[in-house]
Amino acid sequence: MKKLLLILFAGCLLAACGSETNTGPRVVAHRGYWKTEGSAQNSIAALLKAGEIGAYGSEFDVNLTADDQLVINHDFSYKGLPIRETTLAELRNDTLRLANGEILPTLDEYLEASLQYPELKLIFELKSKGDPEYEATAIRKSIEAFKRYGVTKRIIFISFSLSACKEFARLMPRNRVEYLGGEIAPDELKKMGIDGIDYHYSVFLSRPEWVVEAHNLGMTVNVWTVDEEDGIKRLLLLGVDEVTTNVPELAMRIIESGDFGQINPY
Ligand code: MG
Repeated sequence: MKKLLLILFAGCLLAACGSETNTGPRVVAHRGYWKTEGSAQNSIAALLKAGEIGAYGSEFDVNLTADDQLVINHDFSYKGLPIRETTLAELRNDTLRLANGEILPTLDEYLEASLQYPELKLIFELKSKGDPEYEATAIRKSIEAFKRYGVTKRIIFISFSLSACKEFARLMPRNRVEYLGGEIAPDELKKMGIDGIDYHYSVFLSRPEWVVEAHNLGMTVNVWTVDEEDGIKRLLLLGVDEVTTNVPELAMRIIESGDFGQINPY
């Protein structure tokens, strides 16, 4: 117990004085801020609403179409159509709409809309089944788009694909890259050139020392997807830098209050 408390204390200390962590914990809107009027997951409205409430970042999922166009969608299929086997024009058919009425957004449209909130970080998740050719194309085209809109500095790249994380980190060493898988220790990732972890909350609850280890290595710690007040407080007590959540306004209120409760994080 004493050891765990020491880890917790060290974690808070490091969270307070780390490079990008000196502003305290931050909130990432998961798939944008979509649980609000007029919004929908991964819609342009969700991105803009995340900017409107002053979230630190807005997360979104990126897929590649049959004609190598980048679109924003969580699953590998959209309205029953496998994205990789369907063209952009087919996916943007007028009859196929998001829950809020938007047409499926392209990455270009997303980045252009993001210019309205230049402070908002863009948490770019590449959806991938690990095919190197697919990843090379998706990453190359994404980087071209970031440059086209002048948003490269705002991009934080995340993926469940380790190979995609490594490739992006190799090509864009100044951008933060966070691996999502949850099974790799921070020092192993660091050796691969990956400078952040973005793991499911259950990983940090069972391995709280990884938060401290990551900070000791100069890595950032993001956690997904925490929507309950107690859960958010619990992770904040562990010293995570970012909370990815479907309830960004609640998480921002908790952080602003500075009251993370007295919940024993263990
Ligand atoms: Mg995602």
